[in-house]
Amino acid sequence: MSETPSHAVTPRPGIEDRLARMIRLPTVSAERAQRGLEPFEAFAALLPELYPLVHEHLELERVTELGLVYRWRGRREAPDGPLVLMAHYDVVPVDESDDWTYPPFEGRVEDGWVFGRGALDDKGPLVVVLDAVENLLAAGFTPARDVYLSFGGDEESHGAAAEAISDLFRERGIVPWLVVDEGGAVTDSPLPLVPGTSAMVGVGEKGIVTLRLSARGEGGHASAPPTMTAVRRIARAVDRLGPRAFPARTPRAISRMLRLFAEKAEGPARLALRALAATPAATAQAFAAMGGEPAALVRTTVAPTMLAGGTAHNVLPSQASAKVNLRIALGETVEGTAERVRRRVDDPLVTVEVVEGSEPSPESPVDDERFALLAECVGVSHPDALTVPYVVMAATDARYFHRFSPAVYRFAPLTMTKALRETIHGVDERVEVAELVRGETFHRALLERLP
Ligand SMILES: [Zn+2]
Repeated sequence: MSETPSHAVTPRPGIEDRLARMIRLPTVSAERAQRGLEPFEAFAALLPELYPLVHEHLELERVTELGLVYRWRGRREAPDGPLVLMAHYDVVPVDESDDWTYPPFEGRVEDGWVFGRGALDDKGPLVVVLDAVENLLAAGFTPARDVYLSFGGDEESHGAAAEAISDLFRERGIVPWLVVDEGGAVTDSPLPLVPGTSAMVGVGEKGIVTLRLSARGEGGHASAPPTMTAVRRIARAVDRLGPRAFPARTPRAISRMLRLFAEKAEGPARLALRALAATPAATAQAFAAMGGEPAALVRTTVAPTMLAGGTAHNVLPSQASAKVNLRIALGETVEGTAERVRRRVDDPLVTVEVVEGSEPSPESPVDDERFALLAECVGVSHPDALTVPYVVMAATDARYFHRFSPAVYRFAPLTMTKALRETIHGVDERVEVAELVRGETFHRALLERLP
């Protein structure tokens, strides 16, 4: 499938400085209404300065105010579609009360690390894509098939840019052969019992829905309350949506992940993992019992996030409401989820409405040349890591492409230990410079090996 690369590539030094310059532009999605587009425009203007060859050789198209799409023409027309490499350049805000070692938008490079908001999510993964393309262009390389770079500037606020970009592909009849976006990473042991590092490749992502539960009741003075008030109804409804509200089911990818982990583990752990891999129903029960992340992998989760009702401490409110955020398991739907919540709440005086929702993605194939290609490239950039499929619990821009293209994988080729993953959307977000170098290696390997 692969061609031996014949061109000599010398990666350009200074990848950490390029990332630092991107971090210095506060492209905070949530602050766009106040700050305007200025940092986003500055970001788009910075790219030609940092990547002159990319801007000389690739065709750039702006899609909405925030979408940047680059087309790199391949050596031939591939009837089965192009490669699409995705990333986003907006970031989440910083909590002013948090105590960062260095200011979050300073873009500090220190002791082999780059610090700042966006270092991992998702400017680091974006830099490694652009560096790989720039380095290959410098060596005179042309990819075997078309390659698109798709960068959105509003992923953290629903990703309208990525949606518009994917719509454009669909209108033009372009179904990508392979899409790679953020979502998975190289991690330390994701499960107890499994030694070493793993490249977790997200083959699907859960859906999301926010529901509003509202109840009406008689208002009045709090001194003589009726048995059932609006507040009680809402409290009971929320209570009926406990962890067991939704059935546990094991996605195919997770059984496959366990099978691969079994090969790596030793002794009793190996047998246990093998047994779990062979019996998805047992896996679902075991993971559900573990709670936390393992449970979230196998079922729709329910998180009550907002409660409202009442205006005075001695007055019965005539209405009360709750917002509940659910992450929908693969294979289920937004409407089916709302319906199940109605049945669980089982109270005709509580209405359940969908505030907003996004369907879960399908599952990309694992027994497939594209998954094998990603694993091969991980072997080049992170030779110690085992490549395994899993399911992403957060939403990514890739979901829009997944609606019409079958092979969408969520993986940033950077090591993110548990401690580092906690800095994403948190404090002291940072990436190791050596990992940026490996990330560039991964994408270069992928571009060179395209069939
Ligand atoms: Zn992200």
